[in-house]
Amino acid sequence: MAAYMEHKDLANESIGPERTRQITDGVHRVLDRIASAERAAGREAGSVRLLAATKTRDVGEIVAAIDAGVRMIGENRPQEVVAKVEGLRRLCRERGYALGADGGDAADGGASAVAGHIPFHLIGQLQSNKINKVLPVVDTIESVDSVELAEKIARRAVAAGITVGVLLEVNESGEASKSGCDPALALDIARRIGAMGGVELQGLMTIGAHVDDERVIRAGFAHLRRLREQILASGDPGTGHCLELSMGMTQDMELAIAEGSTIVRVGTAIFGERAFK
Ligand SMILES: *Cc1c(COP(=O)(O)O)cnc(C)c1O
Repeated sequence: MAAYMEHKDLANESIGPERTRQITDGVHRVLDRIASAERAAGREAGSVRLLAATKTRDVGEIVAAIDAGVRMIGENRPQEVVAKVEGLRRLCRERGYALGADGGDAADGGASAVAGHIPFHLIGQLQSNKINKVLPVVDTIESVDSVELAEKIARRAVAAGITVGVLLEVNESGEASKSGCDPALALDIARRIGAMGGVELQGLMTIGAHVDDERVIRAGFAHLRRLREQILASGDPGTGHCLELSMGMTQDMELAIAEGSTIVRVGTAIFGERAFK
């Protein structure tokens, strides 16, 4: 278990008014940045969804972001998903939202029908021995970067009688520190994932290049978009829903939106700098 989990109670639900105000302001600023970038790119308002990247944040901080308008969250580590899910589910239900794979309370025959759904994505690397931990909780795994991992997820999903969304993560920057498949293999991997039961290929994900040159960052995002068009144009079974482009973070969301992003994953600009990784 990561060291930071020993000095922060991730299940904590109560935060002070000052912290609530910081997070509320952060969410509003990010939603404004998204709206401006959509306009600047000539894109329809609302065509880009905000995913709050909530690693290292506790339940109270995440719910403050939801109360401020966040409608999708993403975690990196299965242990954090497990530590937070009970509180998050309960507080979301109180607000009329079903979180992730939470189907609501079957015990009341659906009487407490939910008003809305907040998707819960896994955005960090997934080891195969953790798949069963996250499957009951998340509705989409964004960090699938190989046929082997997709097959393992698919097998477990089929056994559980569910279908989980997946995004194929592509390493567009080529940086060795980054996860994601080789862009040259992405089309083939996507077709093979499309053919699997138990998973639905919903799109592509990448992490922008860690460089100052905006042209380099944009080129990676543009390549991911072209890859999506190629996958859709293949007409292969199971590729027709490959519509999402999850790209753009605090530092590069405007560039990503200009290149067609449909989901931006933002942590720092909402919650502030992380005190620990
Ligand atoms: C942490 C993280 C983000 C958000 O990064 P910020 O720079 O804090 O906005 C997005 N995507 C992934 C995969 C992350 O791990």
